[in-house]
Amino acid sequence: MQDRMIGDARVTRVEEIAGPGFPAAQFFPEFDAQTFKAQEHWLAPSYYSPESGRLVRSIHSWVIRMNGLTILVDTCCGNHKPRPGMPGFNMLDTDYLDRLRAVGVQPEEVDLVLCTHLHVDHVGWNTKLENGKWVPTFPKAKYVMSRRDHDHWQAAARKPETEEYERNTYNDSVLPIVEVGLAEMVDSEHDLGRGLMINPSPGHTPGHIHITLESKGKRALFSGDALHNPVQVPLWTWNSRFCEDTNVARQSRNKILSHCAHEHALLMPAHFGSPHAAFIKAKGDDFALDWDHGPS
Ligand SMILES: [Zn+2]
Repeated sequence: MQDRMIGDARVTRVEEIAGPGFPAAQFFPEFDAQTFKAQEHWLAPSYYSPESGRLVRSIHSWVIRMNGLTILVDTCCGNHKPRPGMPGFNMLDTDYLDRLRAVGVQPEEVDLVLCTHLHVDHVGWNTKLENGKWVPTFPKAKYVMSRRDHDHWQAAARKPETEEYERNTYNDSVLPIVEVGLAEMVDSEHDLGRGLMINPSPGHTPGHIHITLESKGKRALFSGDALHNPVQVPLWTWNSRFCEDTNVARQSRNKILSHCAHEHALLMPAHFGSPHAAFIKAKGDDFALDWDHGPS
């Protein structure tokens, strides 16, 4: 089991896919071989493959169960979705839903889906293909997303110059949720109650949000893609190639790491390899990881 207790909240990781992803040198616009080399000794093999030069990542959801509620943070890539130019995400056929059921969650039981942002690997299981139509995978859930991100991707999906896989992502994984009235658009800061807060962390996308959880004095922070790889803790000024506004993304990353360090909040990102979550220690302007091996 991959359960962690944050006070009364039980948090479970559900993996869709894992393994080597983008080459490190292409993924980080600020990549510097010598700086990266100095981190390699702890990055391999869970977060980096020296043989291939590729970053190793997991694509997973976090399930939060508390006070009788079942909440899903991010929904990975989804099945049967055409993603031209993105072979790693194209026409997947994984047993993600079986894995969700295996940890005790039936899709009909999900009350809230929280989308940190509307990228291809975070909204995929919002919908599934049924009789040739994209329908909500979690039919009784409210899907919470940032209005700013929604409006950005809605506009992008209408522009022919937008990458086809991005247009498809909006059209097959976000629009069907909006059309059936299950989307709940929120502004940058939003109190979900029960110790759950939505907070703005723009930069990776214009409306990127992160979620903070507090229960019985214990804290966690679900950071979406404010960080992709744990090397971005010591090297927190490094963005990913998918961060749209580099300066703002850097500020948001710093804010999230500072919050985790000062509030002793467990950092729970969307793509870190095992053990997938860490506490953060601040040393002057720098940050260090303190991995949470937890009960998993
Ligand atoms: Zn992602």
